[in-house]
Amino acid sequence: MSPSSNNFTMQGLDNKVILITGASRGIGAACVNSCLEAGATVLANCRNAQSAEKLSLIISEKFSKRFHSLIYDVTDSEALKQQFKFIQSQFGRLDGLVNNAGVMQEQALAMTRKIDLEAMFAVNVSAAFEHIQFASRLMMRNKQGSIVNLGSIVGEYGGKGQAAYAMSKASLSVLSKSAAKELGPSGIRVNTVAPGFIETDLTAHYSEAKKQEIMANVPLGRLGLDSDVANVIRFLLSDDAQYVSGQVIGVDGALSFP
Ligand code: NAD
Repeated sequence: MSPSSNNFTMQGLDNKVILITGASRGIGAACVNSCLEAGATVLANCRNAQSAEKLSLIISEKFSKRFHSLIYDVTDSEALKQQFKFIQSQFGRLDGLVNNAGVMQEQALAMTRKIDLEAMFAVNVSAAFEHIQFASRLMMRNKQGSIVNLGSIVGEYGGKGQAAYAMSKASLSVLSKSAAKELGPSGIRVNTVAPGFIETDLTAHYSEAKKQEIMANVPLGRLGLDSDVANVIRFLLSDDAQYVSGQVIGVDGALSFP
């Protein structure tokens, strides 16, 4: 019997402080609920007071003491600095960061304007980069932390009509791998979750016919739910994943499988 065989665990997120960006809806909101259920104190970033109010309405009363909304635009570097000062003074620690805020514009390569490309990079890449910078400084103090970045299968394999979005997600994926190497010695794990097609507001513009076409290519026979992604993120944030870092975990029903 190996000496480590007593280490089987089922860890929750008790006593962990976790920041989730773009938390007002979709995968971010599912993640907030999943982390609260698992015992974490959740700092839910929303872009404005209206979306924070909407989110608070779907949070169970029993979690209200562990739920805090932080209102700022993730691309606003000055606001971000202030928010991390607040996190440091109020909570004194950060155990998890989920870089979930994301935007997607689908356009043919030839039609994509530089301004649209830059807008996607600002949210999907630069804001995540800055969050990792600030979060890792706090995490280093306790020599532990888990960062999860929301990539995409198109960031790994490319996507027709999605060149700019795919580029931004590919950048985020390689940022995760680089950060995993650099921050590992400080006890910080960094992983990417790469969803396939998940039914949220981001994909609400897809026609029924298009969704059926995508579903026909999903071996598991259905489109993804926000909870499918949130469950995997919760695992990566937990100590059950303590030897998992630098990985890209697909949550796509095997859609991307060759
Ligand atoms: P969504 O559009 O429902 O949610 C995105 C969230 O990000 C929203 O709450 C939005 O307000 C927030 N956001 C955007 N810009 C922001 C900013 N500047 N500041 C603060 N918040 C901002 O989308 P979703 O499907 O829940 O996507 C969540 C993440 O998963 C995104 O990064 C997305 O790219 C990724 N993803 C989604 C799918 C899918 O099929 N839905 C597939 C692959 C990857």
